[in-house]
Amino acid sequence: MSSPKPAPPLCLLIFFPMRNWPLSLLSFSPQRQLGKKDPYCFILRQRLGVPGNIWRVSIAAHFIEKDAALHQGGTASTLVRIPRYNPQDSRGAPPHLRSWDAMLYPVSSLLSPRFFGYSLSQLLILFSYAVLFGVLLLIYSDPTRNPKRAGWIAMSQMPVVFILGTKNSIVGLLTARGYQNLNYIHRWVGQLIFIASLFHVVSFLVLWTRAGTLQHSMIRPVSIWGTVAFGGIALLSVCSLPAIRRWSYTFFFHCHWVGYITLLISIWNHVPEAIPYAIATAGIYVLDLFLRTIKSHITQATIHFVPEMTCTRVSIRNVSRGWRAGQHVRLTVLSMGMGLGVIESHPFTIASASGDDEGLILYCKKTGDWTAKLGTLAEGGITAKSSEAGFGAGRNVSVIVQGPYGGPGHVVFSSYSAAMVVCGGSGITFGLATVKEIMRDAFDRRSHVRLVDLIWVVCDPSSLTPLLPTFTKLCEQAACVSSAPVFALPDGIVMQAGRPELRDTLYASLSCVSALKNKSRSGPHGVIVGVCGPKGLVAQVRKVERGVGKSVRKAVGGIELVDEVFGW
Ligand SMILES: Cc1cc2nc3c(=O)[nH]c(=O)nc-3n(C[C@H](O)[C@H](O)[C@H](O)COP(=O)(O)OP(=O)(O)OC[C@H]3O[C@@H](n4cnc5c(N)ncnc54)[C@H](O)[C@@H]3O)c2cc1C
Repeated sequence: MSSPKPAPPLCLLIFFPMRNWPLSLLSFSPQRQLGKKDPYCFILRQRLGVPGNIWRVSIAAHFIEKDAALHQGGTASTLVRIPRYNPQDSRGAPPHLRSWDAMLYPVSSLLSPRFFGYSLSQLLILFSYAVLFGVLLLIYSDPTRNPKRAGWIAMSQMPVVFILGTKNSIVGLLTARGYQNLNYIHRWVGQLIFIASLFHVVSFLVLWTRAGTLQHSMIRPVSIWGTVAFGGIALLSVCSLPAIRRWSYTFFFHCHWVGYITLLISIWNHVPEAIPYAIATAGIYVLDLFLRTIKSHITQATIHFVPEMTCTRVSIRNVSRGWRAGQHVRLTVLSMGMGLGVIESHPFTIASASGDDEGLILYCKKTGDWTAKLGTLAEGGITAKSSEAGFGAGRNVSVIVQGPYGGPGHVVFSSYSAAMVVCGGSGITFGLATVKEIMRDAFDRRSHVRLVDLIWVVCDPSSLTPLLPTFTKLCEQAACVSSAPVFALPDGIVMQAGRPELRDTLYASLSCVSALKNKSRSGPHGVIVGVCGPKGLVAQVRKVERGVGKSVRKAVGGIELVDEVFGW
């Protein structure tokens, strides 16, 4: 890495007469006393001097008490000064293509409010699917007299539910959405299949009872296989209920594969007409298994328990490229120390950028059985094979890494003018990969990004300690922006007390980016806001992003939001 460069000679103070701009933007945030109840905000503000194309990187860790609501107030913003704009600094940058959301604003914003955990646009998709399903089920047909219709409809949806549920979904590929983002439709179609098969079964039972042939009909092979198939569907539907998934993901997972294998076999034997559907469904499943296999690597990893973050750091040096920021891998740890967990694979967001010297890095927070076992194994609490050397300084284990999956889809971080990434707890993995990727591209002059804000909300202040070397590494290449220091930290890093104010941070970036209007011929390329963490934090960031008015959006070339939630 190159050495720091002094601040550019011409520093322009940005001040835009925009409506509703907080005055606090024009000054440093007020200093606060670090009281017992006060949240602490350590702000590491940097401007990278070397490449000349990143004007500011700010990393802020906000410590809030557990269960406390995220509070507004105060500000984490500083005066923003921008140097001369040099188009050569981003000559290799990817072209910026605006998303539909940004292009159709403000119409698209009407679809963004969320109800019951879903956005209005998602609810519209689910509603339309249910209406279509209901029409096909009921139109010109009385389900009590024509039970076969419901059976056909249920069968026709099996390939659909599989295509939406597999890790390597063709729909995901075509829509640039990760399988976890399509999972809500997968679950919905699954529930509709259950309803249609319920119609199918109950109608036959009513018909046979009325005809007095119930006993005789029930022992025919077609009915026996039909009953088994319905058992499979019921198992899938009941065990996929959110309450059961939350109670035990492992139980849900095993019920799921037992359910769909049972369903596929029984549907094949139920009626000959079902065979093409069973073949199509099995084909999708087998193709997914094949793709998963070729996307899997058996390799060595070093695992290291990080007590301050209550998580295990997994470092895989042999895998060093081939992913984008925001993508995740599924990890299987091949150690006897994992007990039955040795057959499980768990998803974790990659915390390093593709091409990093340190390889693929994961941070696995201790939340349940599997992650706890991994932590214990890393700490050396489990007697493991002697080849798993490295007590204390990290233990070497064999792992299977499968992926990458998911990610930000059409969003290319380096194509925007500014990025604000907000992370909660272990969501910092998403933030680290995103910032590192932006920095990598900036050094290669392949990025339009000028301003980067990384905001990390954690419960325990000591969580910052293990990541200080990573932040310091960034700072080694930077010329520090002046701010009011409270405590001394490693060279170039400044800590500041104050409460996080996402709105101010976002507006600080927006003000700089809108300045590009007069400075570059191509104008600003928009602002990307990324968020990864608990639902409350994601909702707050969405609210802040939605609150930006039309004129400001226009001035910066649009604002887009990409979110990553650890679960579905
Ligand atoms: C796309 C994605 C990315 C993630 N990235 C990270 C990360 O970077 N760092 C991190 O600490 N955590 C991450 N997680 C969460 C992590 O996968 C779970 O915390 C972990 O699997 C918990 O396993 P457990 O057996 O210890 O806990 P459990 O108590 O069994 O599970 C806790 C919760 O984790 C989820 N979960 C458990 N097993 C699985 C599985 N096999 N597949 C999917 N979800 C599962 C379920 O929602 C469950 O309710 C991510 C999750 C997803 C879906």
